[in-house]
This record gives sequence, C-alpha cells and structure tokens, in this order.
Amino acid sequence: EDKRLRLPPWLKTKIPTGKNFSKLKDQLKTLKLHTVCEEARCPNIGECWGGGEHGTTTATIMLLGDTCTRGCRFCSVKTSRAPPPPDIDEPLNTATAIASWGLDYIVLTSVDRDDLEDGGSNHFAKTVREIKRLNPNIIVECLVPDFRGDLDCVKIIVESELDVYAHNIETVEKLTPFVRDRRANYRQTLSTLRAAKSFKPELITKSSIMLGLGESDEEIKCTLEDLKAAKVDCVTLGQYMQPTKRHLKVVEYVTPEKYKYWEEIGTSLGFLYVASGPLVRSSYKAGEFFISSILK
Ligand code: SF4
Ligand code: SF4
Repeated sequence: EDKRLRLPPWLKTKIPTGKNFSKLKDQLKTLKLHTVCEEARCPNIGECWGGGEHGTTTATIMLLGDTCTRGCRFCSVKTSRAPPPPDIDEPLNTATAIASWGLDYIVLTSVDRDDLEDGGSNHFAKTVREIKRLNPNIIVECLVPDFRGDLDCVKIIVESELDVYAHNIETVEKLTPFVRDRRANYRQTLSTLRAAKSFKPELITKSSIMLGLGESDEEIKCTLEDLKAAKVDCVTLGQYMQPTKRHLKVVEYVTPEKYKYWEEIGTSLGFLYVASGPLVRSSYKAGEFFISSILK
C-alpha cells in the first residue's frame, strides 16, 4: 500500500510566464548551458527568471558534471564512485555563456566530487573569476559541498571573487544520518560555514533547511540557532518533496502559515534575510533577496 501523503493545494504549481522568462529561455537554447532550474523542473523558474519587484533575475548552473560521488536519500542525482573527469573548458565556456545571458545573479553549484583531491574547489574558483572578468556586475553565489570538512578547499572558494558562500545543512542534527550521505555531518557543515566567514568576514554566507522529514519544532529552532552561532547570514526553509518512490517519504507537508512562523523566528534571531515557504529552494529568488536586504 502506498502510504504517501496527498499533495496539498499550496504545492500545486503554476505555469511560468512573463516576458523576461521567455527571453531568458530563448537565449538559453543558443548558449548550451544546463541550468538546474530547467533540468530539475523547478517550480520557481517563472519567479527567478522573470525577476521580481526589483527586476532581478536569478538562475542556477551545475558545474562538474551530473554524477555525484555521494548518495543522499532525498536527492535524485545519479551516483558513481568514479565520475568522468571535470571538463577543463567548463569555467571559461560557462562564464562566456553567462556573461552573454544578461542575468543579475548566478548560483554555481555542483555534485559532490569526493574523488577529486580538491573536491572541485579550484574549478569553482576559476569559473567565478572568469565570470567576474567577463561581467563584473553579476552577483555570484557558490552553493558548494562540504569538501569533507577540508578548510583549504573552503579557502580556495572564499578567495575567488564570489559574493555569497552557500552550503546547505539540509536537515536537523538528529535526522542527518538518515537523510544525507553518511559522509556528510551536521557539525562538519557548520564548521565549513564558520570557516568561510572567518576567512573573509564581509562575505555573505547562507544555508538551507528542508522541512517535512519528521523534524520537531524544537529541532528546527535549534538548527537555526546553530547556523546563527556559525555566523551564517541568510537562511532558507522549504518543503522536502520526494523525487521518486525510492527516496525518503515525506512525513509532513508543512503549512504556509508555519513557514511564515519560521520566517519570523529566523528574523528575530537576526539573520539578514530568511526565505521561508513551501516552494522555497536554496536559490529561490536569491538575486531579489540580495538586492533588497543586503545592498539596501
Ligand atoms: Fe532556478 Fe533555484 Fe530559482 Fe529554482 S529556485 S528556478 S533552481 S534559481
Ligand atoms: Fe545530491 Fe548533493 Fe547529496 Fe550528491 S551530495 S547526492 S548532489 S544532495
């Protein structure tokens, strides 16, 4: 018997529209860029690509291939112990495409590459530098792995010209071993975020929590406090969605009101911004939030 919960109405998504959205989509076809937005069929694409109140457009690009060395139980990315080697032309090609795309805010992310000595950190850093060289105005966020806790890799990222350092804690401490790959660790995640901030205090740091995996309110509050104690600036909270039947089941669909509550708690803890809602993903309207709460 399939005991999956029914999808509540607030998760039924609307079809993206808007002039900006279609323009970006057309450009993308000619640029041969692979966005997470399109490939993951992200429900926020209309809002992110369409630009919000400030007209700020955001997109997420995946670097270092489509095959991960880890296997988290919430994630549908394919896994291999030995993914193909990184494409050495990717940093420049990606930067060239992004620069001609006319975006305001770009999120660079990747699979975990535990097979690489530097976890792919130099590849990230090179891509950031090329982007900034070709378009100094674009705001760059790197949503990076934990690099097995290797702070030298964190430093390589921090010393590129990025604007925002993001690494997702994903869930509360108690559920971490059941949700994330066994090589991931709650405390290790906090230590990389803390290190990023200490290497460059003016850098904006960011993390994200999925809700609906069976965590308690007390545990969510505690996770927010732990992130704050690690000097994380921004936090996002969103609903976990089961990608396939082989992945972790959704335990609860958290209501929009409850997300509002977490936004208030986060704000009262002093985060620069808190994006909290059922469909919020870590890069959700990142450019809009950056412009309205950090550059204000
Ligand atoms: Fe793309 Fe992230 Fe926005 Fe989704 S939330 S459309 S993946 S930038
Ligand atoms: Fe997915 Fe990231 Fe986990 Fe790899 S490390 S399985 S890409 S969530």
